[in-house]
Amino acid sequence: MPVPPAVHDLTVRQNDTFRDALSKLQSSARGILLLVDDDGRLLRTVTDGDVRRHLLAGAVLSDPLARTEPATPVVAREPCLPAQALAMMDWHQVDHLPVLDSDGRVVELLLRKELAKPILLSTPHIGDAELEFVAEAFRTNWIAPLGPNVDAFERELATTVGVSHAAAVSSGTAAIHLALRLLDVGPGDEVFCSTLTFVASANPILYQGGTPVFIDSEAQSWNMSPAALERALADRRARGRLPKAVVVVNLYGQSADMDPIVALCDAYGVALVEDAAESLGASYRGRPSGSFGRIGIFSFNGNKIITTSGGGMLVSDDEELVRRARHLSTQAREPAAHYEHTEVGYNYRMSNVLAGIGRGQLRVLDDRVAARRAIFERYRERLADVDRLEWMPEPAWSFSNRWLTAATVRDADARAVIAALSDRQIEARPVWKPMHLQPLFQHADIFGDGGNLDVAADLFARGICLPSGSNMTMDDVDRVADALSAALAA
Ligand SMILES: *Cc1c(COP(=O)(O)O)cnc(C)c1O
Repeated sequence: MPVPPAVHDLTVRQNDTFRDALSKLQSSARGILLLVDDDGRLLRTVTDGDVRRHLLAGAVLSDPLARTEPATPVVAREPCLPAQALAMMDWHQVDHLPVLDSDGRVVELLLRKELAKPILLSTPHIGDAELEFVAEAFRTNWIAPLGPNVDAFERELATTVGVSHAAAVSSGTAAIHLALRLLDVGPGDEVFCSTLTFVASANPILYQGGTPVFIDSEAQSWNMSPAALERALADRRARGRLPKAVVVVNLYGQSADMDPIVALCDAYGVALVEDAAESLGASYRGRPSGSFGRIGIFSFNGNKIITTSGGGMLVSDDEELVRRARHLSTQAREPAAHYEHTEVGYNYRMSNVLAGIGRGQLRVLDDRVAARRAIFERYRERLADVDRLEWMPEPAWSFSNRWLTAATVRDADARAVIAALSDRQIEARPVWKPMHLQPLFQHADIFGDGGNLDVAADLFARGICLPSGSNMTMDDVDRVADALSAALAA
């Protein structure tokens, strides 16, 4: 009788040898095997420890597993919900639970460590200082969207990034919207934007009534291809209508290749907005990410490298631009007691409470970058033998914060791999779906580098982002790595 695929790699039979068992334990990486009879019915479980005990007691590697004494394993009947399974494991004090169908055949093996603790992609990681700043805001009753934490957070972030001025706002998206408004993007204007990104990079173009034009990625950094940008700029100059701005995105914590991109924008006289939402703490040729554009933006959303639960920042060396950003983000209210208004504004300011969280988070930014990079290194070491996997490259000019560990797979179905990880309570994600493939932007133009390959679409088809939160333990990382290795071996 055939064995279901979910447990196929975990199944051994009585005339398999201890050597077979050891090699299956090694390749399945779950620490336990299922010994079944010819009809696929469970006889007992076999762990690393069981094999070791038999070898110490005189068994040799070529002996059949039939030598193992019978044992009655604790099992569950399908269907078995995670909560029921955990309750059974607690009751019987076991850490694994084979689930049987009505014929007594194993359909699934549940492990306590996998049921008890889902591993998420990137979760908030709060330090020791945040509560102090928040408490200070409460003590002094500064609960408004203005206050000393806001001013201090702006100064401290500007110093970290090496820019002169910063305006704290309610989200990264709001910061991008303000940037485009400050650059006077309006109906009929085109804005160039990296295609491989989260939709928040491009949505504000639509808020302003502008028309996005997408620029493909290059393979060496996964970010905006300077060659594709050059083609797009040359094309638009030939048509006599240059874009109002270029939004360049630093994907998964890695800077785009800024020297040629800045040089092109300067040569064509087009303003550059740097979407550094994912790349705080990274650098390009030693200079902090986010400091390259006329305007840079950051996000402190819950999944980012540091968080205020929700928030963003707009930075620039142009003091007047940042002053205007603050003005527009507080309903563009003129300094008059009756609130005079001459232009449309927004309610985009960051609150003093959340800025307190941001100040605490900023103090541990270097630790968070180091932790994410260590997680990436651990994945790389642990999966060094898996040749179907290729990591997101880090060019010599880049110091990535490795916000998310990302990779592409070869000769494997990335979506099936993600589903296999999900079965083990591990949240992996595809690489961002490129904007030019989104129904929302189906009429937008896309520029590649002139070659035939659609680089961003290929990265989307084959890419996987792995759990990378700085509060993961190395055991968590190993669990993901082992699950990924098993999924790619299948
Ligand atoms: C998160 C993110 C944003 C938006 O930031 P929010 O604070 O969530 O509005 C913009 N661009 C990129 C690339 C992002 O990852």
